[in-house]
Amino acid sequence: MPHMFVPGPVDVDADILNAQTQPMLPHRSPEFEDLFQRATVKTQQLFFTTRRVFVFSSSGTGLQEAAVRNFASDRVLSCVNGAFGSRWYDVAVSNGLQADKLEAAWGQPVTAQMVAEKLGEHPYDIITIVHNETSTGLENPVEEIAEAVRHTSPDTLVCVDAVSSLGGTKIETDAWGLDMVLTSSQKCLALPPGLALAAVSDRAMKRAEEVLHRGWYFDLLRMEKHRLKDSTPATPAISLIYALDTQLEHILKEGLEKRYARHSAMAKRIHSWALERGFSLFAQDGFRSQTVTTLNNLLELDIQDLNRCLLESGLRIANGYGILKNETFRIAHMGETRMEDLDMLLEEIDKYIGA
Ligand code: PLP
Repeated sequence: MPHMFVPGPVDVDADILNAQTQPMLPHRSPEFEDLFQRATVKTQQLFFTTRRVFVFSSSGTGLQEAAVRNFASDRVLSCVNGAFGSRWYDVAVSNGLQADKLEAAWGQPVTAQMVAEKLGEHPYDIITIVHNETSTGLENPVEEIAEAVRHTSPDTLVCVDAVSSLGGTKIETDAWGLDMVLTSSQKCLALPPGLALAAVSDRAMKRAEEVLHRGWYFDLLRMEKHRLKDSTPATPAISLIYALDTQLEHILKEGLEKRYARHSAMAKRIHSWALERGFSLFAQDGFRSQTVTTLNNLLELDIQDLNRCLLESGLRIANGYGILKNETFRIAHMGETRMEDLDMLLEEIDKYIGA
């Protein structure tokens, strides 16, 4: 099996793939409700929340849309310092909302101070921020930003995209006062793509009651009604929920703190390897992702050719995202990837560059 060092979809363990082959259940059955309840209770530990966690049969982008549809009637402040922050802004605009961008250069963080200044100018219904910008390998200081929002504009809901970090980096939804934290299955959770999860605060659910056109599929009030009966309004991706239930067992068995430490150790390893080999890191020091590293391609490697060579050993990395293609490349260290996998990859790249 190839080792995927791309930032999602990542490798999925064989027993998780197998968990999906269990027989189908009617989704309106006590057996399914048991499964759903078992899985969702465990997700609360992952999000560090005692509140609700929704499980959607969609990818993470669906929940970017759910955030703007459910919590904003008018103004959205979108923090943008990478491709996925930019996507969330586009999602808000395409839903007819008045969205403003709060921009930092790609590779630089959006800071609490920037947010406080902007919120001083206008009231906003929600602020959207990507915790881990997968395009740049940067982690935004979400805890500090949430605190700044609380002080400057307490009615503004804080919505966080943790698609490429939740499960690999500690994000404390309740303690940090976050109103929505969303993620996808195919990254740090090491599941196949197709599920999206979101923890949502009580006050955000209250806000949804005031929003007129929440749509249908992503209407969180409708989801909540069904969630309280351990179910979903539409047919869920049952095979993926089997996989989620099993994978959460594995994650909790590893231990969340150990899991985070494993990711940090891999981040440290790749950061020092990159600098020793003459690359530099795209994201500003102090704000580097624990789950994906974006390297400036200072050695001017042909990334496609490098990947072709790596693939002969069953390894695969990612080129730079969008406008950063070839100028940068990305190595993900998330999910079930272990230090020995990373060592193997770096050894192969060393052979390629003759180091
Ligand atoms: N947000 C971030 C930070 C991402 O990395 C991605 C995908 O790579 C997305 C959102 C979109 O997620 P999905 O592809 O699950 O819709």
